[in-house]
Amino acid sequence: SKPVVAVVGRPNVGKSTLFNVLAGEKISIVKDTPGVTRDRIYAEVSWLDREFTLIDTGGIEPESKDVILSQMREQAQIAIDTADVILFLTDVRQGLQDADAKVADMLRRSGKPVLLVVNKVDNFDKFMADVYEFYNLGIGDPIPISASSRLGLGDMLDALIAHF
Ligand code: GDP
Ligand code: MG
Repeated sequence: SKPVVAVVGRPNVGKSTLFNVLAGEKISIVKDTPGVTRDRIYAEVSWLDREFTLIDTGGIEPESKDVILSQMREQAQIAIDTADVILFLTDVRQGLQDADAKVADMLRRSGKPVLLVVNKVDNFDKFMADVYEFYNLGIGDPIPISASSRLGLGDMLDALIAHF
């Protein structure tokens, strides 16, 4: 069966934006109560000759800091249990946060392949210096992208399918 890739990261780093860009038009929006549009959870994605199932572990995101960390731990555990590769998304604008480091530790200990992706690098010249601090997470080279401007996605996908 196809490899499973799970997107994990703090609220607001751009998980749903990235998910929707990669999912493209290929799946329909999941609707719950009429008038209420929920996040899409699964998508079938292809890149070059490879196909994989993408999961957005985000769903409804909490606001308070302690709830954020406990929910992130839950999401990371789901990703560790179900995914072949974990796409760990961070945000260059908010910079490296404590919760990022805690989840990175958890992912590192799992031994699962993790891709460290730094989002919102809308301008590679302007923001690249800020990307380097993410090396401190100790889970590999940070891959800069801008989900909303669709920058860096080809390099990210190349790095992703190398793990299949
Ligand atoms: P999630 O909570 O991780 O699912 O994050 P969302 O996908 O809902 O995005 C949170 C906010 O970040 C939204 O306002 C997005 O428009 C914005 N966003 C997502 N990707 C980018 C990006 O590449 N650059 C910038 N500047 N904003 C982005
Ligand atoms: Mg989301």
